[in-house]
Amino acid sequence: MNRLRNPSNGQENQNCEQAIPIGDGKVQAAMFDAQPARARVFTFGLGSFKIAALLDAVDVRDNLVSALAPGQSPIAMQELAASNFIDRDRYEHCFIPTLVDTGSEKVLFDTGFGDTGSSLLGCLQDLGLGPNDIDVVIITHGHPDHIGGLVKNGEPVFGRARYVFGAAEFTFWTEASTVREARLENRDLFRRICTGLASQATFIAPGCEVLPGITAIDAAGHSPGLLAFLVESDGHNCSSGRTPSCTMPCPSSIQSGTPILMMTKSKPSRPACAS
Ligand SMILES: [Zn+2]
Repeated sequence: MNRLRNPSNGQENQNCEQAIPIGDGKVQAAMFDAQPARARVFTFGLGSFKIAALLDAVDVRDNLVSALAPGQSPIAMQELAASNFIDRDRYEHCFIPTLVDTGSEKVLFDTGFGDTGSSLLGCLQDLGLGPNDIDVVIITHGHPDHIGGLVKNGEPVFGRARYVFGAAEFTFWTEASTVREARLENRDLFRRICTGLASQATFIAPGCEVLPGITAIDAAGHSPGLLAFLVESDGHNCSSGRTPSCTMPCPSSIQSGTPILMMTKSKPSRPACAS
């Protein structure tokens, strides 16, 4: 996996010594501080809520067309990519946990990989927040890039938080015998990380209002119990132009056509949540 690379030149973001030519033709070495090549936090308001998309990591992958536009004309897609200044064949798969500050609680959707290449905690730090400022962690589904940051060295990272899991998703990873071979390692990771958090967790079903303004939606497909979330505040919504950059922590999750986090004025029915 090519993680956290600068999309403009393919180089990893790290301290580097770079040669800079000066007037007399000599070369002077200069040290550059390690800085992300682009912003890793994107914030905006939604009613009285504040929302931040947090770039945990980037995986640069090949086969843009087959991955993101199966069945479409490769030539047309490559031309579309080029006209939007995107590489014709490679693409970035971004991992973007999302923070919603409701004013009374700070709610983190997913926790990133949690490994040495993860930037989630750095993103929170950019906002002046530490892990103990998070009140609620909502897990959309049980894949490693969503649960990996929950625990470090066997201890919960977000020490004050309560957790919210989809009941079907939690049951699938902890009890089901239908986990396919390719996901057995994922299953073991889920059990290792999440089982110990169950006593602090609420288990919900689609339609459940987790908090005022945050409602779970069935998005099963990418994983058996994947949840999307509807976020509403003061009747405000989010323009569609902004939505993709802030609402798709796992773009490949959108196999049911439902964004992970939707923003709208509509109000779905809300059955009581089970804990
Ligand atoms: Zn996933």
